[in-house]
Amino acid sequence: MILIMFGAPGVGKGSQAKILSEALRIPHISTGDIFRENVANRTELGRLVKVHMDNGLLVPDEMTIGLIMDRIYNADCKSGFILDGFPRTLSQVEHLGRSLKAEKRSIDTVVNITLDDAKIIGRLTGRRVCPSCNLVYHLAYNKPHNVGRCNKCSSNLVQRVDDTESTIVRRLQVYHAQTKPVLSYCRDRYVVVDVVSEDDIDDTTRNIFRSLGLAAIGTSDEGSQYMRLSNGCA
Ligand SMILES: [Zn+2]
Repeated sequence: MILIMFGAPGVGKGSQAKILSEALRIPHISTGDIFRENVANRTELGRLVKVHMDNGLLVPDEMTIGLIMDRIYNADCKSGFILDGFPRTLSQVEHLGRSLKAEKRSIDTVVNITLDDAKIIGRLTGRRVCPSCNLVYHLAYNKPHNVGRCNKCSSNLVQRVDDTESTIVRRLQVYHAQTKPVLSYCRDRYVVVDVVSEDDIDDTTRNIFRSLGLAAIGTSDEGSQYMRLSNGCA
C-alpha cells in the first residue's frame, strides 16, 4: 500500500503517519525527519537544508526528489510505504508518479487532513517534540505523562525552531501557494480521502482508518492490531 499524507503543517499528519506505519507494517518516510536528522548530524545535506528550514522555505526540489527516490527503492518499501512531507510541488508529484509507473506501481490513496489556519497556529505553537525518537506532543491536546519528558525515552522535549508563530505564518503561506496545486493534481489522478483533523488525536485516527477501509482491533495504544476490511470503502 502506497499512501501519501497530505495537509498543512500542524494538522498532525506526522503523528497519524506513524500510527499507520505501525498498523500496516510499512515504513513511514518523513522528509522533515530525514532533514532534521541530517541537520543534527551536521552533514553536507543538513547544512544546505538548515538555511531553508530556518526561514520557513521549502528545500529545493532536486535535493528532495533525489533523497526520496533513493529511499523508496530500499527493500523495506517493497510492500508499500507512507510519504509524509512529500510530494510538495507539482514537479515532485509528477516525478514520483513516473518512477512508480516504471515499476508498475501507483499511489493507492492520498490522505488529506484538513484544519483552519487559525487552529493550526494554536496547535503548532503548543507543539513539543522528542529530539531522540521524534515523537510529537502538545501542551494542550497530547500532553506527555511527565511534564517536559518523552513518554517513550524520557528525553527532554523541545520546541522546533520552525514552530514559532512568525515562521508558522510563513509556512502556511508557502503551503497554500505551492502545495495546494499538488492536491488538485492528485484529485484528478488518484483516490483522495479528506479527513478533518480533530482535537483528539484518536478521533482523527479512527476517521482515517475508516476512510481507508481499515478496522481497528482494540485501542490505538502501543501493541494494538489493525486489519483490512474485506469491503474496504476507500
Ligand atoms: Zn523520545
